[in-house]
Amino acid sequence: MKVLKFGGTSVGSAERMKALVNLIHNDEPKIVVLSAMSGTTNQLVQITEKLYQNLNQEANALIDALHTKYKQVVAELYSTEDKQKQALELLQLHFDYIRAFTQDLFTIHEERAILAQGELLSTALFQLYLEEQGINSVLLPALNFMKIDENEEPDADYIAKNLKAELAKYSGTNLFITQGYICRNAFGEIDNLKRGGSDYSASLIGAAADVSEIQIWTDIDGMHNNDPRIVKNTYPIAELSFDEAAELAYFGAKILHPSSVLPAKQKNIPVRLLNTMQPEAKGTIITAESAGGSIKAIAAKDDITAIKIKSGRMLLAYGFLRSVFEVFERYKTPIDMITTSEVAVSLTIDNAKFLNEIVAELQQVGQVEVDKDQTIICIVGDFLEERSGTGLKIFESLKDIPLRMISYGGSKNNISVLINTTDKVKALTALNDGIFERRNINA
Ligand code: ADP
Ligand code: ASP
Ligand code: MG
Repeated sequence: MKVLKFGGTSVGSAERMKALVNLIHNDEPKIVVLSAMSGTTNQLVQITEKLYQNLNQEANALIDALHTKYKQVVAELYSTEDKQKQALELLQLHFDYIRAFTQDLFTIHEERAILAQGELLSTALFQLYLEEQGINSVLLPALNFMKIDENEEPDADYIAKNLKAELAKYSGTNLFITQGYICRNAFGEIDNLKRGGSDYSASLIGAAADVSEIQIWTDIDGMHNNDPRIVKNTYPIAELSFDEAAELAYFGAKILHPSSVLPAKQKNIPVRLLNTMQPEAKGTIITAESAGGSIKAIAAKDDITAIKIKSGRMLLAYGFLRSVFEVFERYKTPIDMITTSEVAVSLTIDNAKFLNEIVAELQQVGQVEVDKDQTIICIVGDFLEERSGTGLKIFESLKDIPLRMISYGGSKNNISVLINTTDKVKALTALNDGIFERRNINA
């Protein structure tokens, strides 16, 4: 059994959905995880924003526009009257459900129910198309098995037990379709795995069903060595280790949801990144092995806040760092980077929800300075292979850019620097020219 996840662009139009059939129609048993059609989740977010502001008329206009867009998809996707009718009825149900939320109090629960509609629609429409094509498949409701606990962490035991129970109901079937992104929470309510979460669904499903491979099909031919949205001349990396891929995903490589590597790593299931527009391209394979080599790729993560705590009490003292870390623990706020000197510690967070509370508590320990709008540039590779010179190449490339923090040696896979977000494009380009061009010439 394999898991194949197709992202928004891969199901983004009737034409793309039709093309998908060629990629999944063979005898190999598989679970196909679909995202919402591209743009849909953003449009659903806009609708919820209007509803929060009580702008119901504007919300209704957006809902009608989205409904019309889907009717167009239905017109293009199905060739039989019967399936057209069924699909239009399906749309009516989903859009009436969304419209019902314009009439009452709007809270986070209603928001999550609306956000789930994108994946519910794409999977239902695609499965109906398979039926029209005479291809045997089963639609598995992700809400029956995908679950997060009270800490918003996936409940792996629950997922495995319930997914296996669902699969066992259809022993003669080898093609299953299910929704990415959506889940239930500890209270049984509809929830989600955060934006981009369909990748995470795919790896959680893969781990739960003990599959032989997890494939993430998207609109690019694998993990590139740098952010292709910002830097020209990037290229796909053929092989990555789980740890390297996890660092890149966590530090901003949008092709993978930040948490999506871990479930695969824990079960040692290879993850393959592939391109639906270019299915013959090799893509990237992520396994326990590292292919060696020094610097493999760079990613950048924005919206970082740096916090410096300076205290005379830190000098020659122990227990100081613990008192700092405990504050972050109390507010369930992960720390990404950390650097220390004898009198101060600097660290970064990407979730600034409790920043004011955290700063107020830290002020009991020392003087606190906060810098917003920072970016972490994460340079990933296998740095033990090349024991010297890596730092030089990196810092030489970045010589014109002010560096706020540097983190080196925390793991053998990662060197991170913190810069002002305004310097990001310059930094990524300079690193690309300084590291990869040179490596290519030497190769
Ligand atoms: P999907 O909708 O299929 O989940 P995403 O838009 O979430 O697709 O992810 C694919 C996009 O990630 C690519 O189109 C690319 O612009 C972006 N991306 C950012 N960094 C990288 C990288 N290092 N390698 C490949 N793609 C990247
Ligand atoms: N549809 C969701 C989103 O746009 C999940 C995903 O595409 O992975 O964030
Ligand atoms: Mg994505």
